[in-house]
Amino acid sequence: ERMVTGEIQEEDMGLEQSLRPETLKQYIGQDKVKENLQIFIQAAKMRNEPLDHVLLYGPPGLGKTTLAAIIANEMGVNFRTTSGPAIERAGDLAAILSSLEAGDVLFIDEVHRLPRVVEEVLYPAMEDFFLDIVIGTGPSARSVRIDLPPFTLVGATTRSGLLTAPLRDRFGVLSRLEYYEQKDLSAIIARTAEIFDSAITEDAANEIALRSRGTPRIANRLFRRIRDISQVKGEKMIGLEITKLALNMLQVDDAGLDHIDHKLLKAIIERFNGGPVGLDTLAATIGEESQTIEDVYEPYLMQQGFIQRTPRGRIATSIAYDHFGFQRTDRG
Ligand code: ADP
Repeated sequence: ERMVTGEIQEEDMGLEQSLRPETLKQYIGQDKVKENLQIFIQAAKMRNEPLDHVLLYGPPGLGKTTLAAIIANEMGVNFRTTSGPAIERAGDLAAILSSLEAGDVLFIDEVHRLPRVVEEVLYPAMEDFFLDIVIGTGPSARSVRIDLPPFTLVGATTRSGLLTAPLRDRFGVLSRLEYYEQKDLSAIIARTAEIFDSAITEDAANEIALRSRGTPRIANRLFRRIRDISQVKGEKMIGLEITKLALNMLQVDDAGLDHIDHKLLKAIIERFNGGPVGLDTLAATIGEESQTIEDVYEPYLMQQGFIQRTPRGRIATSIAYDHFGFQRTDRG
């Protein structure tokens, strides 16, 4: 279990529900995305039509599910949620879609993981609001057309490139969520503290924000742990000192890196003189799967410029060297 992962963890469940903002106004940051959605929502309401299908993409924990629920709320319709891997057969999708009311929002998380057969049934549903379903098998099989109420599909995925082109093309609105700026994360932490009825100083909130990898889910998780530690230590107010102490106990450094990031970066620097080192070699060296490194560990390190990907392998940058106070040795 990792403190600094954007993926939902068991400890987050339940607690997150109470933290979800309910309106666009309460949703902090992501100004460009909000501005766009605001206009589309207003236009759809003026025309008295359902909102166009929306694809939200970006790393886990940035607020895609939250935003989908907000869209439904702002449109004044029901919010139904499911996920790509949960819809195994065309019939599962048919059951969900035919139970919707006009204008409802159907949220499909991990929409890139829909089985191919299901995806094909989804195309006409998205485009013209009908299903073509084959009933029966063999010679008695026949195709029936089922009309659907107009609805809005909100799909979420970590990268838009994971979607097939025909599916991606059927979304009218594509919104990319970005990692949050420190000031926005500070505001999210202040809001969370208020909901939890606890007091936090501004510099403490800023410190947590700095170490949260631009991700609200991580910020909220760190906040809860720090609040626990602060409470046990008998503090009335969560201040900077206890926050730093707690974050060190939790092994989250001042760039939001943890022991796994350290292991990875130090392997490149110490074992391979800064690289380039091939992904598989690196994986074998630190005892992790290549796929995990590529999908889970690397994106943030690359985004922050600690690692660069080159045709010959991974390189630790001067930012990585500076972070550990290492001198770059001459590689000749
Ligand atoms: P995703 O679906 O992208 O993995 P979620 O929507 O589940 O992320 O958000 C994770 C947590 O972060 C939720 O508890 C939510 O309350 C909080 N959160 C996300 N974005 C915001 C935001 N813009 N403002 C306030 N809280 C947010």
